[in-house]
Amino acid sequence: MPSPYQELKERAWAANQEVPQRGLAIYTFGNVSALDAARGVVAIKPSGVPYDKLTVDDLVVVDLAGELVEGKLRPSSDTPTHLVLYRAWQGIAGIVHTHSSYATGWAQARLPIPIYGTTHADHLAEDVPCTAVMSAEAIERDYEVETGKQILACFESREPLHTPMVLVSGHGAFAWGETPEKAVYNAAVLEELARMAFVTRTLDPSAARLPEPLIRKHFERKHGKNAYYGQK
Ligand SMILES: [Zn+2]
Repeated sequence: MPSPYQELKERAWAANQEVPQRGLAIYTFGNVSALDAARGVVAIKPSGVPYDKLTVDDLVVVDLAGELVEGKLRPSSDTPTHLVLYRAWQGIAGIVHTHSSYATGWAQARLPIPIYGTTHADHLAEDVPCTAVMSAEAIERDYEVETGKQILACFESREPLHTPMVLVSGHGAFAWGETPEKAVYNAAVLEELARMAFVTRTLDPSAARLPEPLIRKHFERKHGKNAYYGQK
């Protein structure tokens, strides 16, 4: 009998496959989840399974409280972080976590990624934020839940769909989107922005941020009611 979550699992599987294909992870690093908001379930990569061995049947389905709904394997250890974000934010249906090299480099330096150019401004109108470093008390509580809370704290005055990515200090990258496919796209964009910013800062450590009018122009070309980039 086919799984009632087959389509969700297939989308989550395909999105997970794209992570190593885009050079965002080696071995078992990273994970992608896909949300079915109507049914309140999430399909996520199982813990510790390499991408090239991953099958659609391996995907684990949990509810938004983290209870197992379907699957033979244990879900990714980062599942509680994904669930914190899904419960808090409307309109997000895919989340990606990676330790992609350049993004993680900035996270390890505990630095936001400066908005140096229009490639960045096409996707978000501010620096890629970097969370605070987790306190010893928070680590002692529930580490993966606390990681989600750190991200929420960083987004208290941000719109998650306008800034669909974050660096977690000392750790790595999270990105999200209205679909799992868009979440992977944003994770790949994050890595590229991190790489470009690294090159910019290396060539000129005092490089200036993009001027505000250029940021607004590029961001608003692609976002909001007056967007005109691409095909209708
Ligand atoms: Zn991680």
